[in-house]
Amino acid sequence: MSPSLHIDELTTVQVGDLIRAGWTTVIVPLGATEQHGPALPLLVDNEHGLQTAMRAARLIGRTLVGPVMTLGHSPEHTHFAGTVSLAKATVAGIIHDIAESHARSGFRLVYFWIAHGGNHSILQEMLPILENKWPGCRVTGLRDIGEYISATWDRVPLREGIPLARSGSHAGEFETSIMLAARPELVRMDRAEAGNPAPFDSICEQMMRDGMEAVSSNGVLGDQRGADAGRGNIYLDALAEYLAAGIRRERGS
Ligand SMILES: [Zn+2]
Repeated sequence: MSPSLHIDELTTVQVGDLIRAGWTTVIVPLGATEQHGPALPLLVDNEHGLQTAMRAARLIGRTLVGPVMTLGHSPEHTHFAGTVSLAKATVAGIIHDIAESHARSGFRLVYFWIAHGGNHSILQEMLPILENKWPGCRVTGLRDIGEYISATWDRVPLREGIPLARSGSHAGEFETSIMLAARPELVRMDRAEAGNPAPFDSICEQMMRDGMEAVSSNGVLGDQRGADAGRGNIYLDALAEYLAAGIRRERGS
């Protein structure tokens, strides 16, 4: 048994030994450092990406979790202090270099997990280039973000009795509950607020054109109030099961 599934916490000797013993899949969460409203820290996407990947790695076995890409493409959030947004070309370059490094280490499957929606289109442009670039190493990742959102972010809160107007698509009940489960010390529930409750599809275009501040003055889509750590664990398990199923399909197991 590996002492940790998180590459950042292992020595190079441990990683090398694990790869030689058949631990040849690595999950790379693609996160962001961006505003998540008044109650949540900027690292939300990095944290739920890491927690999801760790839980998925435990589910499927012989899988490690690579360093999280902690900065992403977040131009719609730059009105809000603390947000750091990389250009698309920068993100594409980082994705390439991460894949190349893991291929060189000896991993045979590199799976990129989308923990921030703004990175999705960049990954889709990169996957055909990276897929078979390094002999013996397949590079792939989450492709159908619509199916992913409806199977997890939409379906699971509804099953738990939380309407989408509250669970939200950004910094709402869904992400607040996850943070209460994963990093409660970083959540300011005394500052939790409601944001724009409108369906994401109805405001997405304006948000991408005019910035998040044009559709939500506090940066929340959904409602941070009433979040719950127990539900956060249920959400993380659902995300991990979805990710694990995707990797199992790639491995044919
Ligand atoms: Zn987020």
